[in-house]
Amino acid sequence: MNKNAVYIALAGNPNAGKSTIFNALTGSRQHVGNWPGKTVEKKEGIFKYKGGEVKITDLPGTYSLSAYSPEEQIARDFIVKEKPDLVINVVDAANLERNLYLTAQILETGTPLILVMNMSDVAESRGYKIDEGKLSEFLGDVPVVRTVASKGIGLNQLKEKVVAFVEKGATPSSHSVEYDQDIEKEIDTLSAAIAEIPELTNIYQPRWLAVRLIEGEQDLVNEVKQTPGTKHLLDASSQSHEKLHRIYGDDLDVAIADGRYGFVHGVVTSALKRSIEQRLTTSDKIDKVTTNKWLGIPIFLALMYLVFNLVQNVSAPYLDWVDGLFSGPITNWTVFLLNAAGSPKWFTSLLTDGIIAGVGGVLVFVPGLLVMYFSLAFLEDSGYLARAAFVMDKSMSALGLHGKSFIPMILSFGCNVPGIYATRTIENRSARTLTGLLIPFMSCSARLPVYILFGMAFFPSHAGTVIWGMYVIGVLVAIVVGLILSRTVFKNTERGAFVMELPPYRMPTFKGLIIHMWEHTSGFVRKAGTVIVAVTVVIWFLLSMPWGVENPHNSYFGQVSDAIAPVFAPAGFGKWEASGSLIAGFIAKEVVVSTMAQVYVGEGAAGGPSEPTTFLQDVRDIVVGFGDATVSATKELLEVFTPGITIFPAKENEDRQTALSRALQNAFTPLAAFAFLIFVLLYVPCVATVAAQAQEFGWQWAAFSVGLNMTVAWVLAILVYQGGRLLGLG
Ligand code: GDP
Ligand code: MG
Repeated sequence: MNKNAVYIALAGNPNAGKSTIFNALTGSRQHVGNWPGKTVEKKEGIFKYKGGEVKITDLPGTYSLSAYSPEEQIARDFIVKEKPDLVINVVDAANLERNLYLTAQILETGTPLILVMNMSDVAESRGYKIDEGKLSEFLGDVPVVRTVASKGIGLNQLKEKVVAFVEKGATPSSHSVEYDQDIEKEIDTLSAAIAEIPELTNIYQPRWLAVRLIEGEQDLVNEVKQTPGTKHLLDASSQSHEKLHRIYGDDLDVAIADGRYGFVHGVVTSALKRSIEQRLTTSDKIDKVTTNKWLGIPIFLALMYLVFNLVQNVSAPYLDWVDGLFSGPITNWTVFLLNAAGSPKWFTSLLTDGIIAGVGGVLVFVPGLLVMYFSLAFLEDSGYLARAAFVMDKSMSALGLHGKSFIPMILSFGCNVPGIYATRTIENRSARTLTGLLIPFMSCSARLPVYILFGMAFFPSHAGTVIWGMYVIGVLVAIVVGLILSRTVFKNTERGAFVMELPPYRMPTFKGLIIHMWEHTSGFVRKAGTVIVAVTVVIWFLLSMPWGVENPHNSYFGQVSDAIAPVFAPAGFGKWEASGSLIAGFIAKEVVVSTMAQVYVGEGAAGGPSEPTTFLQDVRDIVVGFGDATVSATKELLEVFTPGITIFPAKENEDRQTALSRALQNAFTPLAAFAFLIFVLLYVPCVATVAAQAQEFGWQWAAFSVGLNMTVAWVLAILVYQGGRLLGLG
């Protein structure tokens, strides 16, 4: 490094002790003037040491780098435009959390910094214990010096660190604030646009400027406006604003500040211990419970149990309603119209037994998905999910992973595909890959239809427990596989330090929840409309070929499935119908159910010709059915939230058995059914997940993952079945 050109800036909150430190470093070699065009005082000085000298500028004291006041703007412009080689950030250790907000913003500029924890005498007298090592680590290996500037304590260490920097240089911290996924998406878009405009990249770091544009910082927006060739950037920026406005309303700036507070709160929660009780904010009080060493995990498990119960109980009445809608009126009307139009019999069969039955079989789960995604969005937007990740950090470390890997895994309960993409927030490459390999064991909502179908057919009084058990088994298998992989394939993974962000708790906005819920569910519906229709049609054809085949077993589909079936014999379900459904399930797990409907029940899935009804009658039934479903769902909802109290006496065990579940009861023993569920839980989730893995980690890892899932699923299904038989269970 060219020692003569080194330039250092001192930054910090007002009264953190900056001037005291500035004086200690520069002595009498000072020059006091004004910032150009401002009445704010500008102090510059020279720090001399054996071997050289460095120019230091004392920036105005600020709490933030947003350009709301002249002081903030001066400090911000200096750091971003003059690009000092180093920022010495003086923080008041007695008010660590508030002071680190500025630190988070300096880190975002990408400037290397030294953190000076001044006022450490005051902090100590208040009973604060700050773990400097952790503080440094969580800020991305930033050097930390503890000082009492007014007494000259620690100033020599500071000087040594400054000299070490001047002589050796430093890399900027790799850590930076991360915002909500919605905001991050827009940051990515805008950064990419900024990166193409040299006039801007000469001055600004793309990500930094992107965040500021999203915040809508007026002076920067104007500057971009005056830069030629930035029209597409400004357009993109207003589009981003529109999108984010839809989600956050007027609270976008709050959401961005939350990102920074979350970062800071995570650092402070990890590095600061208060031995004397402090006045706690509500957020702190809730955190004391939710991040408690003993309570944290049970609370998390209880919440997840509640979520799955909601999904199960609240969506069941609607499930029946959608099911009735497809197998009743929609099928009947289609048959009626087709007959009237003189359609050939095979076409009617393709449309009703193939497409309507297939798509209907999948859409019945939409109510469940809506409840599931609504609940997950609530947990995420309220700030709770970040706490869950924080609590899980210790447990995850046994797998060589961070708590950060936990959020993609939780999201994977909804769908594995977004889970795979969510691993992008994990910086360490092999930790990311390992997380991506464990995600398929997280039971996604597409597997739920299979559990519900089998649960109700074979374990009617314990269906909820069986479903819950599947999720738990998936997690346990992931843990065991993770333990093995982290000690073999990923032996050399370094866990590295990182910050678990803890944004303040907030009441999520209803609008935000609805948008998140709809985004995810509509993805599923689109899948039902495209992939699943295509697969159902293909399977319908394979089931009907060679033309005129009477028994589906003799069809092409039946023959291929038959050839593979023996592989599953040791697991108790070595029949062609089962293996055929599993093959189709490669495409997507929902397809297992629709295929079963085709092969087990086939024509007349709706239960034979139903009584002729009039159109008006049908419409009335649909409306009344929906009303009934809403009433039952509301009752269930009330009962989920008031456990132990039966508000509404249970109705007589209704007969929820369908034609398909009766067919299954003839084809599987309960033990074989359970082994089948284990296989469905653990084998490759769907082609979309494999494609996402290939995109994120490369084809080799995707192939490895497929092999891993198949092996684990097959071995465990056999173990369950054979073990169960030894125990005399079936
Ligand atoms: P600035 O606003 O950041 O420039 O802060 P100053 O350097 O002017 O310091 C503010 C006040 O805090 C002064 O009265 C200092 O003497 C006092 N001060 C500075 N450092 C320390 C410290 O480490 N401990 C204590 N107790 N007081 C300090
Ligand atoms: Mg001062």
